[in-house]
Amino acid sequence: RVDYNVPCDKDGHITDDRRIRSTLPTIRYLLKEGAAVVLASHMGRPKGERKLELSLRPAAERLSELLNQPVQFADDCIGSETAAMKKALQPGQVLLLENLRFHKEEEKNDPDFAKALVEGCTAAVNDAFGVSHRAHASVVGVGKLLPMVSGLLLKKEIDFLDGVIENPKPFAAIIGGAKISDKIQVIANLMEKADVIMIGGGMANTFVAAEGYDMGRSLQDKDRFELARNLMKKAKEMGSDIILPVDFMAGDAFSEKANTKVLEAKDFSDPWMALDIGPKTIRLYVETLRRMKSVVWNGPMGVFEMKPFATGTFAIAEAIANLDATTVIGGGESASVVDQMGIEDKFSHVSTGGGASLEMLEGMVLPGVAVLADKE
Ligand code: AMP
Repeated sequence: RVDYNVPCDKDGHITDDRRIRSTLPTIRYLLKEGAAVVLASHMGRPKGERKLELSLRPAAERLSELLNQPVQFADDCIGSETAAMKKALQPGQVLLLENLRFHKEEEKNDPDFAKALVEGCTAAVNDAFGVSHRAHASVVGVGKLLPMVSGLLLKKEIDFLDGVIENPKPFAAIIGGAKISDKIQVIANLMEKADVIMIGGGMANTFVAAEGYDMGRSLQDKDRFELARNLMKKAKEMGSDIILPVDFMAGDAFSEKANTKVLEAKDFSDPWMALDIGPKTIRLYVETLRRMKSVVWNGPMGVFEMKPFATGTFAIAEAIANLDATTVIGGGESASVVDQMGIEDKFSHVSTGGGASLEMLEGMVLPGVAVLADKE
């Protein structure tokens, strides 16, 4: 199981083949060991229907170029023709199956579908971290029918994201994004080990407002002030320091063209809203980061999609990249920021999975990992 859910342009050309490239070590290893390799993946959300624009055929072509050998392609991931192609496959050969999600049974974890997928196979490998939080047939069902082990990419993800908690100290987590409700579990789990948790993004507004400030029209979760206060209290009891922004880049509208000014929490009034962390906060967070031996980052510090409010996010990315420390980016938007900046290789690990990495940071065991024969 690989994750070849790659972006394509209108003509079906792959615009970013990183997900394909990142599976090469596992495929090459299996071929070297004499396996005949059958690859299965999803692409987009066809919802059980066959959609030409979501075919994996371009991925087979790209993989063939990267491996420098032919890659066969089966027009369906199950069925008699595919079974025959699998049967004819020789050690050292590669066959990519058509989009798993052309069958609705994939996402339903249908046991008969899983059985059809494994037909003719003797072992399974999960190298698709990005879907390992989903109990789908190719991720979980297959592992119940065959010995399924982690691929090299999956293992790297698990080692880094699991290991984050045991990383060298001092250990800081820096958490941003829009909503506190999405990250409560992440914060609660990380505070058990992190010396410092720095909060940014819209979520920080809720924490700051919970301390009694009127954040005006800033995005905030008014029903969760109590929860924010409890998290702060719990962190203190556990010896972890939650640090909040001391100033903000505010806008008078949620727009790229908004007028901007730097405001402290006490200064908010209509129509101003906090849309990024401010310059003093950037300095404070960057200084704090400098003392760290390990850092995990998840979630933007502001509305980074709009240029006037991207400074905080980019400054934090840059600061983490320049640390002499173990640095882990927990997928999602933070990973795409780092990618945009072209500084991916300056981090110890940039996760390929948004949802999956978040669930791991929450301390959950992913269903696609729980089913593996080689899990620790
Ligand atoms: P999440 O999906 O929770 O990681 O949130 C990411 C989104 O949060 C991004 O699209 C940002 O634009 C948005 N965001 C970050 N900071 C703020 C803020 N201060 N106000 C509103 N939205 C924000």
